[in-house]
Amino acid sequence: MQTRPPHAGLNFVAGEWAPAAGGRAFARRNPADRDDLVGEFPESSAADMTAAIGAVAEGAAEWAAAPAERRAGVLEAAANWLEERAGDLTEELVREEGKTRAEAAMETGRTPKNLRFYAAEALRITGTSYPADDGGLVYTRREPVGVVGAITPWNFPLNIPSRKLGPALAAGNGVVFKPSPVTPLLAQRLVEALLAGGLPPRAIALVHGGAEPGAALAADPRVGAVTFTGSTATGRAIHADVGPSRRSQLEMGGKNPVIVLDDADLDRAAQIIVKGAYGLSGQACTGTSRVIAHEAVHDALLERVVRLAESRTVGNGLHEGVDMGPLAADFQLRKVLEYVRIGEEEGAKLLTGGRRLDDESGFFVTPAVFAGVTPGMRIAREEIFGPVLAFQRAADLDEAIALADDTEYGLSAGIVTRDLDRALAFARRVRSGLVKVNQPTSGMAMTVPFGGLKESSTQTFKEQAGDSMMLFYTQEKSVYIS
Ligand code: NAD
Repeated sequence: MQTRPPHAGLNFVAGEWAPAAGGRAFARRNPADRDDLVGEFPESSAADMTAAIGAVAEGAAEWAAAPAERRAGVLEAAANWLEERAGDLTEELVREEGKTRAEAAMETGRTPKNLRFYAAEALRITGTSYPADDGGLVYTRREPVGVVGAITPWNFPLNIPSRKLGPALAAGNGVVFKPSPVTPLLAQRLVEALLAGGLPPRAIALVHGGAEPGAALAADPRVGAVTFTGSTATGRAIHADVGPSRRSQLEMGGKNPVIVLDDADLDRAAQIIVKGAYGLSGQACTGTSRVIAHEAVHDALLERVVRLAESRTVGNGLHEGVDMGPLAADFQLRKVLEYVRIGEEEGAKLLTGGRRLDDESGFFVTPAVFAGVTPGMRIAREEIFGPVLAFQRAADLDEAIALADDTEYGLSAGIVTRDLDRALAFARRVRSGLVKVNQPTSGMAMTVPFGGLKESSTQTFKEQAGDSMMLFYTQEKSVYIS
């Protein structure tokens, strides 16, 4: 059912809202109710992207010359704009992506805080001075890179772009933003917030669409830095397009495990696992997809997790009492159901869930738990990005860590134990960028370094790393004066 008038989405290029040059558009529908049209948005081409990059390449100089206090002020004002509209944005986020109201409210609450954090970073960009041989002056200065390309996924359509546009603009760069076509409306809201906050219109461009404009953005030599969050396959393609002489920062997939040791409080462990596995309907990069349980507690833990999974109410996130929304898109639904089929075919035991709801108005799937999963199975190795949990057994901590590491990914890994020594050993040894002790694998603080190891991330720059995060968005010069 149409709950609001559909939105007429536009690109923002050279200071103006405009359709794609060819006039093509794509529709975005509510994943919880296919009769609810969220809006239509420009299906941009590579040529649209090339024009947008040209406009920002020309317009970025004004912003680069703006005093740091002005840059900070714009980000603060954009944060205010978002906060004033948090209620409406929360509803739009539920409708566009399929989050529950609580999940959406968390994101609309956090995004302005991100912008305030980067506003403060704008004031902290410093250089260093060095002793000069001739008594002169040697110092470094940090300058904006120029044009930053930001390519983002749909699972946090405000929060993730704010962690890219915020620092890029704080450092004085122009930005070309290519959001996911799954969540174009919220991307547009973020750009509206920045413009309302006083960002010079030619310092930013928004180009809707999919892989075609995305690839054109990554490949364009006028773009000095490309920041990307999305799947590892896309990240690899972007890495090739950017090449060695420009910089890229790629935050990619995960296959995140939780180890549960024999001393764990099993009720607590089950809560931690279920929160990490089924929050955002399993569509979080740091979401839990594997449980590696000590064999002494495996069966009792499994029983608790199945019970909690079955107590989740799946439905439209706008409705009271719903604690797991739909999958965000038809391709997500197909992928999750396909992995459930693969898991059963591989011989793992599906204890609950993994089925589409009878209500086919949306992409609803019940939370799945597989037992008897062995390391060679695809459901133990490949990112599913949905509410599917795979249980494995381990005899001790050594075997559990070996199983945890037996994947190409290294984004987040957790352990549940009361034994500090074993928790610290795990933190030291596991090959993962984020390590969680007695917490879900998902969730992190904005001020703390965040980024994966192995195929989950580029290893040169972390996405969000306190003041070191600004290194990606600035380049350094060394100046010698006699
Ligand atoms: P995706 O890789 O399909 O798309 C991400 C973005 O890349 C979209 O804007 C898309 O249009 C664009 N794109 C697609 N092909 C491209 C190409 N060839 N060149 C340039 N751009 C291209 O990912 P998704 O489905 O939007 O998001 C889900 C994935 O994101 C999961 O793998 C998840 O783990 C990952 N993710 C990672 C993090 C993290 O911080 N590591 C956070 C959130 C999501």
